[in-house]
Amino acid sequence: MARECGRDPETIRLVAVSKTKTPDMVMEAIEAGVDILGENYIQEARENYDELSSYPVSWHFIGHLQTNKAKYAVRIFDLIHSVDSLKLALELDKQAKKIGKIQDVLIQVNIGKESSKKGVEPDEVLKLVQDTAGLDNLTVKGLMAMPPYFDDPGKVRPFFANLRELRDKMKKDGLSDLSMGMTGDFETAIHEGSTFVRIGTAIFGKRN
Ligand SMILES: *Cc1c(COP(=O)(O)O)cnc(C)c1O
Repeated sequence: MARECGRDPETIRLVAVSKTKTPDMVMEAIEAGVDILGENYIQEARENYDELSSYPVSWHFIGHLQTNKAKYAVRIFDLIHSVDSLKLALELDKQAKKIGKIQDVLIQVNIGKESSKKGVEPDEVLKLVQDTAGLDNLTVKGLMAMPPYFDDPGKVRPFFANLRELRDKMKKDGLSDLSMGMTGDFETAIHEGSTFVRIGTAIFGKRN
């Protein structure tokens, strides 16, 4: 799939999204080769982490993060995909400082400008990236987005392309990663340069 569109497979990483799944199911996925876990909820993540922290996997946070949960997030996660405000960035920086960590983050962009979606508006991304990059204990690695849903995955392609173009404009600010693509549209996202695909259903089956 990666080679088909001229990409080195090593540059595309799979984040296994385990929301609503039990630690047992997550463990099975790890045994089957998953090495990055994507968590949506801090409470669920803490439960999984308690049971699975001895496994050699990387923990990523992909859900909406409330400022008052930042202290837990910096303890568990190697990468937080969903920074969407300066307020959250400041709190993560403060909590990371307390434990002597440099926290890697992505900035979440509301690429379809939907009222139902989280993320900073496309024309405010540069400012948030630069403000966040100015904080001592955070490193901005790239951008993340959840585009609008279409039955036809071809229609989502321009949204992925827009996110890539935004990232390209900020390469000089050190941004390289693109977290985009889920079960229904990861192939399109890979064509448009995704470096993290976040897959739940195709790994764990349908959620209730
Ligand atoms: C649930 C979720 C996914 C995975 O979705 P699937 O369609 O099950 O692959 C990816 N990213 C985020 C932010 C999610 O909440």
